[in-house]
Amino acid sequence: MTAVAEPLLDVLPAVRLSGIAKRYGNATVALDDVTLEVGRGEFLCIVGASGCGKSTLLNLIAGLDQPTAGQVEVTGGRATLLFQEAALFPWLTASLNIELALRLRGVARQERRERAEELLERVHLAGMGDRRPHELSGGMRQRVALARALAQEPEILLMDEPFGALDAMTRDLLHDELERIWAASGLTVVFVTHNVREAARLGDRIVLLTSRPGRVAQTFDVDITRPRRIESPEVASLAANVTAALRAEVRRHGS
Ligand code: ADP
Ligand code: MG
Repeated sequence: MTAVAEPLLDVLPAVRLSGIAKRYGNATVALDDVTLEVGRGEFLCIVGASGCGKSTLLNLIAGLDQPTAGQVEVTGGRATLLFQEAALFPWLTASLNIELALRLRGVARQERRERAEELLERVHLAGMGDRRPHELSGGMRQRVALARALAQEPEILLMDEPFGALDAMTRDLLHDELERIWAASGLTVVFVTHNVREAARLGDRIVLLTSRPGRVAQTFDVDITRPRRIESPEVASLAANVTAALRAEVRRHGS
């Protein structure tokens, strides 16, 4: 009998990757021997150069793809993936985009409208439910996508450079909102970015990946009190350390 007792589940990490390798065809080794744990309720940021395997890693955690070697264990509950470009249905209003996710979760028709409005409030978009995606700014669209992800009631939120296409001001606002939602919910977040400052602004921990193949180069604990400002000296100083490590890795691998 190997069933894990409930109290024990609470101390297990939400996600555990052991010796993960991922190869595409015969040529590309995207990830090689990645071992990593994400604690329950942790906000983990993953940084690394473009093409180092960040999206591959998230897809493996999301179960959208299988590793070539190693083990992916997700015991922290349901994982939902949020992409860089808000993949909203353009012909549906913001509210209906969210209601669709609720419907797939089996929420009754009468409740969907109200729940969607609550979710829109959570991302500070109250009253915007009747707008279609093209009537919203990029930041608003990404917030609708976040509301839709929250509608799936995930325990683990996987975010793949979700704010990469936004201007700095909008991104700052979304950092605040994401931090607020995370702090209030006990969500586990795995947040991928190539923006080191963003990682230092948001993360409890930062994992730096090397390129070709992607490996864990270094892990940084972020001991900066929240709420944080991206322009604070503490965030800037940690970001400088991570950037220096990233540069050293890029030089070592000559890419
Ligand atoms: P990142 O998200 O860090 O930019 P990716 O995980 O997208 O990196 O890609 C890692 C490596 O794997 C890259 O060299 C990329 O070209 C390759 N790759 C990613 N997805 C595929 C795929 N479906 N087929 C073949 N190669 C892929
Ligand atoms: Mg990517």
